[in-house]
Amino acid sequence: MGRSIKQDVLIVGAGHSGAALAACLRGKGFQGSIMLVGDEPHLPYERPPLSKAALLGADAYEPILLRSADFWNQERIELALGCVVESIEPDSRTARLSDGRSVSYSWCVLATGGRARALECEGADLAGVHRLRNLDDTMRLRAALRQCEKLVVIGAGYIGLEVAASARSLGMQVDVVETRDRVLSRVTSRVVSGFIEARHRAHGVRFHLTRAAASIEGGERVSAVVLDDGTRLAADLVLAGVGIDAETSLAEAAGIACHGGVLVDSAFRSSAPGVLAVGDCARHPNDFADGLWRLESVQHAQDSAAIAASTILGLGSSYHDVPAFWSEQYDLRLQSAGIARDADDLVVRGDTGEGSFSVVYMREGRIIAIDAINAPREFMAARRLIAERVNIDRASLTDAGVSLRAFA
Ligand SMILES: Cc1cc2nc3c(=O)[nH]c(=O)nc-3n(C[C@H](O)[C@H](O)[C@H](O)COP(=O)(O)OP(=O)(O)OC[C@H]3O[C@@H](n4cnc5c(N)ncnc54)[C@H](O)[C@@H]3O)c2cc1C
Repeated sequence: MGRSIKQDVLIVGAGHSGAALAACLRGKGFQGSIMLVGDEPHLPYERPPLSKAALLGADAYEPILLRSADFWNQERIELALGCVVESIEPDSRTARLSDGRSVSYSWCVLATGGRARALECEGADLAGVHRLRNLDDTMRLRAALRQCEKLVVIGAGYIGLEVAASARSLGMQVDVVETRDRVLSRVTSRVVSGFIEARHRAHGVRFHLTRAAASIEGGERVSAVVLDDGTRLAADLVLAGVGIDAETSLAEAAGIACHGGVLVDSAFRSSAPGVLAVGDCARHPNDFADGLWRLESVQHAQDSAAIAASTILGLGSSYHDVPAFWSEQYDLRLQSAGIARDADDLVVRGDTGEGSFSVVYMREGRIIAIDAINAPREFMAARRLIAERVNIDRASLTDAGVSLRAFA
């Protein structure tokens, strides 16, 4: 029989949201015991560089820690790394860990993130086919990028495009395969998709849009990707960038309501008493668009953690933050705020040819979202306008010479 311990707050997952929650609880004066359990062996680290800077550079990559190694001790946060929370039982408020311990908790917070989807075609398990979600994945991909010459990226979402940009910077041949007719189709407008695609093409990336990978060929390792129109792309490395599934297995096994994520309310409470869910795994109501949302961004991981900390402290907060995200590809910094899905109009501000512009998304005369490319001031100003739900005259928006700040 393993040892039984008591913790006031048990956090499952030591990624961005789990680490932020632990730090936030202490920041807000919580004095109780906190245990942060992570199945990865590493101290909590930044994930965004994993598809960008971590793949480049001659020196060995050192992960950027979210907090210094001393922080956890100093703040009396018990870290259990390389340890899996195998089950939770909301009725008895207990959890079982892979090291044999049983934890009785007052609050359990699921911060379990997501799992990178695998390709479903034949050959998807050949050596040389990679996915990218965590530091160990990056270290494997980083090594492979230095031994290989021909990369095929499957999926033109953020991760796929960031890796494509990194691989081109390393001088590799890069093909990108995408089932839709444009890149980033799930997250942005045609204007931005077209601009990003053109930048990649200018850097030598070849696109195969409206095409799917039918099979991956190889002997001991991958040698080609065959598309559904019969095109054969030579490859010695493949990256599957086809999205993530929320990691809900623990919640589902515990009988907690899940549907494309752990279902939570605006205070990040799940259907089980004493169990919250934050970050990528939480599907929540959002002030800025109808329906339920699962947001995959550092900003949301931090914002949801802050609200969950308030929920635990009984401060009665609920989630009203403007969603935000960023990506970096070559010399482009794309920053997005708000949720553009329900837009009925858009305004392009600035000259796409100049490489610095923004696309403002409107609904019923209000700004609801922005994509800003190398335009950080526009992004900051729009964020406020979105939060404050300001009504704006469309005609005046089209003059990029007038700063968005003028509308505040
Ligand atoms: C390569 C990459 C690049 C990204 N770039 C950007 C970017 O540029 N901008 C941006 O805003 N966002 C970016 N993101 C997204 C951002 O990193 C995520 O939204 C954020 O990490 C979500 O935090 P999280 O805590 O919900 O999940 P994660 O950070 O994924 O942490 C979840 C942790 O829980 C662990 N876990 C799961 N189940 C268990 C269990 N049962 N027991 C113990 N541990 C468990 C997982 O292994 C993982 O370590 C990127 C993500 C990736 C993968």
